[in-house]
Amino acid sequence: MSAVLQPPLAPALRWRNRFAQLGPAFYTALPSEPLPAPRWVARSASCARLLGLPSDWWKDADALEVFSGNALWPGMQPLASVYSGHQFGVWAGQLGDGRALWLGEIDAPGGGLEIQLKGSGLTPYSRMGDGRAVLRSSIREFLCSEAMHGLGIATTRALCVTGSDLPVRREAIETAAVVTRVAPSFIRFGHFEHFAHHDQHAELAQLADFVIEHHYPQCRDAAQPVAALLEAVALRTAQTVAQWQAVGFCHGVMNTDNMSILGLTIDYGPFGFLDAYDPDHICNHSDHQGRYAFARQPNVALWNLHALAQALLPLLGDADEASERALAALESYRTAFPQVLLARMTAKLGLKAADEGTRELVDGLMRLMAADRADFTITMRRLADFDSAPGARNDALRDLFIDRIAFDAWAVRYRQRLRQEASIDAERRVQMQRVNPRVVLRNHLGETAIRLASEGDFAEVERLLGVLAAPFDEPARPSAQDRADAGFPPDWAQAIAVSCSS
Ligand code: AMP
Ligand code: MG
Repeated sequence: MSAVLQPPLAPALRWRNRFAQLGPAFYTALPSEPLPAPRWVARSASCARLLGLPSDWWKDADALEVFSGNALWPGMQPLASVYSGHQFGVWAGQLGDGRALWLGEIDAPGGGLEIQLKGSGLTPYSRMGDGRAVLRSSIREFLCSEAMHGLGIATTRALCVTGSDLPVRREAIETAAVVTRVAPSFIRFGHFEHFAHHDQHAELAQLADFVIEHHYPQCRDAAQPVAALLEAVALRTAQTVAQWQAVGFCHGVMNTDNMSILGLTIDYGPFGFLDAYDPDHICNHSDHQGRYAFARQPNVALWNLHALAQALLPLLGDADEASERALAALESYRTAFPQVLLARMTAKLGLKAADEGTRELVDGLMRLMAADRADFTITMRRLADFDSAPGARNDALRDLFIDRIAFDAWAVRYRQRLRQEASIDAERRVQMQRVNPRVVLRNHLGETAIRLASEGDFAEVERLLGVLAAPFDEPARPSAQDRADAGFPPDWAQAIAVSCSS
């Protein structure tokens, strides 16, 4: 990393860098490794606005160098944080930011936002890795971060991707890229596990105080602030994972070091959106046991919350009392998760009452979809057009199922329910289209953008970003491209393999 620059944009940014004030037990301060001859690959105008940057921020003479890890603006304070964690259910020991670098925290209009480079070179926590990220995975992370935000799901954001000809070895030789990620905090469950594992109770307490003070201030005045924190984290995690399940998002690597203390979706690797609905779908080809299969995600989140609770035990009072408090806090996840998911699915089916009758309708539909491998996104979107008139055949929806008789039986019950609720088709349709996306980042859409980008054509990444930023919008006169974005995956999509190697 070269000299500190004084570009026109830099003085406009106010830096707070609160994480850095935690002290050296929490990180190693170090510069990034330069990325040779960087070029812009993609930028998110929406993320720039969040940061309070002007629309032409990237034209600043040094922006490309700064967001490639080749220069610093004044106020930036690069560091790699240390964390540990459980990977695939097993204690993995010390991990940490092995290829990410925290640059600082901007005092943005909506509150503090931390900036992090991913793929910016070796750190003391790189273990066997090379500290780099490849263009392919960086575009996937960039697009999915912004797509999740477009879907209304809590996530780390992505400001930009820069690329270089620097070769990086994965299964094949690829090229290096750097993604700039943005979040109020990048603290993970694994940060707590790290200090608990090493019996560093002072640092553990310091970290909990920090998170409460800056991110969960409502817990400060609770009788047991740390128990209140655990409960609040459990509730946010329940919200986020329920939204994943409702939109067919499979994270792929729900290790405890990939769990955000803010309940954000973080660390986009071998993720995938379901095409055909299969509850047992495993999106990560390295997940041989299917630990992180789609339908297992809610339980994995709870398992991970137990690991967090375990780490927080020393802060929860003497032994018996502590485990009682921890279990009580985790109970809130067990209660909240099914409620939040049912509320989501109630909205997706365009129903009003989230009761037992609705749950049966939801379960019935999901069973049919699973049996016939109906496309998750298309089925839910077409449901918005359901005609509740007696005798209506609803062919566009019905044709998605092989067992039409079973579908018809379900449709009769659905129609009855709609009638009971005095539901009006046209109104329901509008409401349902706001919660059932027309388009999600299916693997094949990302793959096409990646292929073109690796040939030097970044226009498709930008186009896709625009589509994914407004995933619920129905184009007035859909073009062939609009129809393709929202259509079934092509046959070749099945051959796309995504793994931890990114
Ligand atoms: P992940 O599975 O991507 O969440 O990564 C797990 C751990 O491995 C984290 O500590 C990462 O920082 C680290 N890691 C992953 N890939 C690399 C790499 N190419 N170089 C260095 N560290 C890496
Ligand atoms: Mg990770």
